[in-house]
Amino acid sequence: MDTGNTHAIFRIGDIELTWLQGGFFHLDGGTMFGPVPKSLWQKRYKADENNLIPMCNDPILVRTAGLNILIDTGLGNKLDEKQRSIFKVTSPWDLPAQLAAHGLGRDDIDLVILTHCDFDHAGGILMLNENGSKEITFPKAAHIINQQEWEDVQNPNSRAKSTYLTENFDLLQTSGQLELVDGDRSVCPGITILHSGGHTRGHQIVEIQSQGKTAVHLGDLCPTHAHFNPLWVMAYDNFPLEVIARKEDYCTKYQKMDSWFLLYHDPFVRACTLSPEGRPAQTW
Ligand SMILES: [Zn+2]
Repeated sequence: MDTGNTHAIFRIGDIELTWLQGGFFHLDGGTMFGPVPKSLWQKRYKADENNLIPMCNDPILVRTAGLNILIDTGLGNKLDEKQRSIFKVTSPWDLPAQLAAHGLGRDDIDLVILTHCDFDHAGGILMLNENGSKEITFPKAAHIINQQEWEDVQNPNSRAKSTYLTENFDLLQTSGQLELVDGDRSVCPGITILHSGGHTRGHQIVEIQSQGKTAVHLGDLCPTHAHFNPLWVMAYDNFPLEVIARKEDYCTKYQKMDSWFLLYHDPFVRACTLSPEGRPAQTW
């Protein structure tokens, strides 16, 4: 499925952002809006007759100061037929071809920032090549993951086992390309990661600043434009009260900075600003 503003360039000062298609799937609307009654959420985000809502999984290519950075990696190409049918995957992952459209090869990615390690964000870390064997998708990139997130990937609880899929991480562990961070970290001029927790224990967000402009990628704290109300959390959130508190903090902080909010799962709105009441204002 072609979604709005795919491949178009969005600028924050000198920094260029491009949404790449990382695979399209459908999730149950009730799960995505947790405690919110359907009569309310369906006014903001339409479900089909099976209560499914359409969602993309679109990594953002960030180009700044000679560096090519990816935020998250999409679904990957390792899901089997059963998994593709459960998640109603309607558009496959082809990140290498997506990058080629921008004149970039897999070797050109310097840095991969993972907001967290659920399969819909980390599925593209490793890929199946044309021979059907697995390799690291971006062989020259450092992969930045929060330390607590990595501990949970190594030792998942019974619920996390079905989303921290071992096949997404095994080669990374021994590759020398894994960079664990404990807390907040400036990655390069203009790009900072902040440990948020909430959705998962080690979830992190990405702040982008250039020439007085700011954007923030809240990852799965705010998967779509319909999730800005801090109380609209997902049944997938591991620590919903923490998601509510973090969203209250971040939405207030970044709204005051007139920041853009970047969205990973929303095929209708790629980025938006917020009104002082916390509602999407300008959209892109
Ligand atoms: Zn997600």
